[in-house]
This record gives sequence, C-alpha cells and structure tokens, in this order.
Amino acid sequence: MLHGLARLLPTIERAGLAEAAVYRRRALYRRPPALTPASGPLLCPVCGRRASRFLPFGLGGRRNAQCPDCGSLERHRFLWLYLSGRTAFFRRTLRVLHTAPEPCLEGRLRTRHRRGYVSLDRFNPDADVQADLTALPFADGAFDVVVSSHVLEHVPDDRAALAEIARVLKPSGWAVLMFPFDPRRPTAEDPAMDTPAKRMAAYGHPYHYRIYGRDTPERLAACGLAATVVSTRDLLSPHRRRRHRINANHLFVVRRAAPAGGAP
Ligand SMILES: [Zn+2]
Repeated sequence: MLHGLARLLPTIERAGLAEAAVYRRRALYRRPPALTPASGPLLCPVCGRRASRFLPFGLGGRRNAQCPDCGSLERHRFLWLYLSGRTAFFRRTLRVLHTAPEPCLEGRLRTRHRRGYVSLDRFNPDADVQADLTALPFADGAFDVVVSSHVLEHVPDDRAALAEIARVLKPSGWAVLMFPFDPRRPTAEDPAMDTPAKRMAAYGHPYHYRIYGRDTPERLAACGLAATVVSTRDLLSPHRRRRHRINANHLFVVRRAAPAGGAP
C-alpha cells in the first residue's frame, strides 16, 4: 500500500519504471497527516477514531477511503473486523507472517503477537525479512497464520507464491488472502500485458498482473489450499458498512487442503 503512487503514475507509464524502482522509495510509505476533526458519524475500527469524513485515496482519488488517523483503507477495516470478530487472532499469541505489512496494521499485530510476528516484503527496507513470496526463507509449518492483503496480484507466478504459503502453514494453520477480485468474471490475466502502461490499461494498476475471478477457489485448490470466501455483506450489516466506510469486498480464508486420498 503506497501513498503518492498517483503522483508518480505519468513517470511510471512514460519511463516503464520497474516495480522495484518505485517500491523502494521510502517516502511512498508515509501517509499524509490528519486533516479532519476527530468527531462525526464515521468510526475506524482499527484505531477507534471518529471522523466526519475520511481522506480520499487511490489512483482515482476514491472519496472517504482512508482513516485520517491510522491510515486504514476500506479493505484494512474489513480485514480487521474479520480477524477480531470471526477468529481468535487477537485472543491468542500466534506465529504470524504478514506480507507487505500495512502501516496501520503492522504495529498492532506486532504488539499482539510479539516475537511470533514476522513482516515480509520484497522491497520495503523496513520489513523484518526482505524476500520474495515465491521463495520464503522459512521452514515448513512455521506459521499459525499468514496475512497477505493485496500482494498476490503483484506476483507474476502467483501459483508458486500460493504453494509457498501452503508450505509454511502449520497443518492447523490458516491464511487470509485479499486481492482484486471480480466474482462475475473468470480471472483476467494475459502475459502480453508486459509493461506498466499496458497493465494500467488492463488491470487499473501498473504493477498488477491479473484481476482474480470466479475460478479463484479452483486456482487456490490447485496450490494445495482449500478456500472459504467471505464478503463484506456476509460479515457486516449495512449500518456497520456505512459507519466504518467499507465497500463491497471479499477475502479468502484458506487452509491446507487434505492430501489426495484423504486422511488416514
Ligand atoms: Zn483508523
């Protein structure tokens, strides 16, 4: 999650900048300061701040998207409410791998899970481990939980990344995965989209390699992960979606699939 990517977009498209050249810029990880008073009908569940409006965010300047205090976006608030409302994630100390850690979540997850928490990023120099998701430097079964939001669409060989996630999960472990997802269509993916400008036109982002579609559960299953899809409507009433400013979204909860032939 980068701030100020929109500002760089003309340069990215004109010069065909590589992802690493952009994502190593520390300044892009800093969020803008709060501008709205801390009162109003909106409530950020991540930091508890109230607001009359949230800040715009994204390449198109999406309105009322970002909490002016912690910097959370709609998808982070959805993820937070899922983890806190439907899982024991905040009640137990776990071994947690957090990929491309969002600043609004990283400190809170680290505080909860202490030494069990590991952040990982390909480019961010402040991550605990700098590595590629397709070659994780961890033992099999090292983690109870993997949290990976809006990372897989940046990985050209996402099947290798998914197999690595399956490998580093404990048999009892689970992962929560989020990515651009359109359940009305099959996955949109085309190797001919091989420049930032082409990918911007095809997928709405210069460094996305696909938009996941309705075949996603099968894609995950082929990598050894059994998936359950949770939508914002499954989790939250219309009132809560408005109050927390959460738009239509989905997350995938995955577990290691039982080996073929079933358990003994
Ligand atoms: Zn917040």
